[in-house]
Amino acid sequence: PVHLSAERASFAYDSRHIALAEVNLELHEGEALALIGPNGAGKSTFLKGVLGLIPTVSGSLSVLGQPPRKASRRIGYMPQSDDIDPEFPVTLRQVVMMGRYRSLGPLRWPGSGDRRAVNEALERVGLAEQAGKHFGSLSGGQQQRGMLARAIVSEPSMLLLDEPFNGLDRSNREALLELLGELRASGTSIIVSTHDFEIATAACTHVLLLNRCQIEFGTVDSVLTSEA
Ligand code: ADP
Ligand code: ADP
Repeated sequence: PVHLSAERASFAYDSRHIALAEVNLELHEGEALALIGPNGAGKSTFLKGVLGLIPTVSGSLSVLGQPPRKASRRIGYMPQSDDIDPEFPVTLRQVVMMGRYRSLGPLRWPGSGDRRAVNEALERVGLAEQAGKHFGSLSGGQQQRGMLARAIVSEPSMLLLDEPFNGLDRSNREALLELLGELRASGTSIIVSTHDFEIATAACTHVLLLNRCQIEFGTVDSVLTSEA
């Protein structure tokens, strides 16, 4: 099935400036898309558009067969930097449970299945031991993995990651690559923004290359080898 389809989709934060223009692409179940381009090229904008946080001002965008806002409950999102105030008195477990709430929708309390899902997500990112710790007291790398757990805990059909490899050491990089591979094998589609061509080649099937005046979409092989 097609997970993401964009036809001449343009995005804007306000009515006067187009932040990202004329994106055309198609991504299927289990495929992974790398967003590559310099700062300001529109990588975060595209992720926010897929989440339905900013509108398409022209063209069309279909996410999991629906308009973006409607699909957002089936999407996991890891923002570029954590959006949790370090003073906020919340444990790692509670942060990950927040990701679970998003998929529950209104009028449902979390049950034992949700608590189990939280524990599993924490195990997958190697943070089971830290579950009860104050989120703000964790190291930067641990907070980043906590945000990843929050993004995957709802067992999303599509996972969006904004620069997830930034600041990771080699072993954490390998672990993240492996986790992304497992998720893809179970049918999850992935969109990941990165500056790193090597990561894109290792983790992704497709590339959306964003430049100021030119946008290119294709398979990793066709886009990245033509650059070299
Ligand atoms: P990247 O993630 O590739 O660094 P962005 O998506 O953040 O790029 O930026 C793309 C364009 O959108 C830039 O011209 C930027 O100035 C503009 N932009 C980003 N965030 C906002 C915002 N909150 N309000 C208005 N314009 C924005
Ligand atoms: P609300 O509409 O409830 O105010 P937003 O959609 O504006 O929430 O998102 C608030 C924060 O929640 C975002 O900054 C982002 O970090 C996180 N978030 C958004 N969508 C998702 C998602 N699908 N999965 C996990 N976290 C998300």
